[in-house]
Amino acid sequence: MKDVLIIGAGPAGLSAGVYCARKMLDTLLISGDIGGQAMLSWEIENYLGYQLISGVELVERFRDHLENFKVELKESCKVTSLVRTEESFTATTNKGDEFSGRAVIVASGKVPIRLGIPGEDKYRGRGVAYCATCDGPLFRDKEVAVIGGGNAGLGATLQLAQFARGVNLITEEQYLRGDEVRQNRVLALEAVDVFYSSRVTAINGNTFVESIDLMHDNEKRTLPAQGVFVEIGSKPSTSFLPVQVELNDGGEIIIDANNETNTPGLFAAGDVTNVSEKQIIIAAGEGAKASLSAYNWLLKQEYLRR
Ligand SMILES: Cc1cc2nc3c(=O)[nH]c(=O)nc-3n(C[C@H](O)[C@H](O)[C@H](O)COP(=O)(O)OP(=O)(O)OC[C@H]3O[C@@H](n4cnc5c(N)ncnc54)[C@H](O)[C@@H]3O)c2cc1C
Repeated sequence: MKDVLIIGAGPAGLSAGVYCARKMLDTLLISGDIGGQAMLSWEIENYLGYQLISGVELVERFRDHLENFKVELKESCKVTSLVRTEESFTATTNKGDEFSGRAVIVASGKVPIRLGIPGEDKYRGRGVAYCATCDGPLFRDKEVAVIGGGNAGLGATLQLAQFARGVNLITEEQYLRGDEVRQNRVLALEAVDVFYSSRVTAINGNTFVESIDLMHDNEKRTLPAQGVFVEIGSKPSTSFLPVQVELNDGGEIIIDANNETNTPGLFAAGDVTNVSEKQIIIAAGEGAKASLSAYNWLLKQEYLRR
C-alpha cells in the first residue's frame, strides 16, 4: 500500500512526484510516457528560468530532478481503471498489474483530438501526424498542411516552415486563434498560406498521403500535401476514473482551490482539470499543490505519523 499513487508523468505528475518525495511520502508514479505534451513543444519561451528551451530538454531536466528523490516509477504503463475501496484506491494497468494507494493524484493530461474524416486512419504514420516536433523533419522539401488555427497549429506551422517547401495552414474560423506573437510570426512567413473558413473533408493518396480535400464557401478544393498535421486540440484522459468523479462539460475533472475532487482522497492537477489555463508552469505548480493537499489529507486521516 503506497501513500500516494500519481497517474501521469507530464509536468503536473513530475512536479507532484518531487513534492511527494520531499514530504517523505511512499509514492508510485505510473505513466504512459515521461513528459506528456511538453515533449511536443519545440520552443518553450515561457517557463521561468529558461529564455528558450525545447520540450525534450526541459523534460530531461524535470526527470533528472525527480531522479534525485525516492519515487518509484512505472513507465510505459497505462492505468485502465481506478477503483475506490473502503480505505484506499486500486489502479489496474494495461499490463494487468494492480497498485494500491491511500491517496491518488490524477495528472493524466490531454490527448490530441482526431479529425474523424476519410483517410485519417488509413494514412496515420504515412503522412498523417499529430506531432510536428516529432515528425516535422521527415517532411523536408515537401508540401504539408497544418489543420487548426490555435496555438498548437501555429506552433506546428512555425516548425514545419523550417523544413517544408510550403505549408498550408487551414482553419475553420475566419481568423487565427493563437497568441498574437505566434500569429504575427506565421503571417510573416513567405512559405505559409493561410486558408480561413475552410474545412478539411478527406485525406487522399496511394501508399502515402498525396492531397487533401477542403470545403470553402460550399466549394470543394484539393490541395497537394505529402504531410498532414492535425492540430485541432485535445481531450482530457479520464476514461479510467471511477464514475462518481465529477467532470465539467469539457470532460475535465472539477477541482477546488486545493486540487481536491468530489471524491475524498482523490486529487487532480494540470491539463486534465478545469483549471482555466493549460501551460507547463501552471501544470507544474498545480502538481505541487496537489501533493501538499494530499499530504495534509493523509495526515488528517491519520494515515501518516507526524
Ligand atoms: C504542441 C504543443 C506545444 C505546447 N507549447 C507550450 C509552451 O510553449 N509553453 C507552455 O507552457 N505550454 C505549452 N504547451 C502546453 C503544455 O504542454 C501542457 O499544458 C502541459 O504539458 C500539461 O501538463 P500535464 O502534466 O497536465 O499533462 P500532459 O503533459 O498531457 O501529461 C499527461 C501525462 O499523463 C500520462 N497519461 C495519460 N493517461 C494515462 C493513463 N491512463 N495512465 C497512465 N498515464 C497516463 C501521459 O502519458 C503523460 O505522461 C504545449 C502543448 C502542445 C500540445
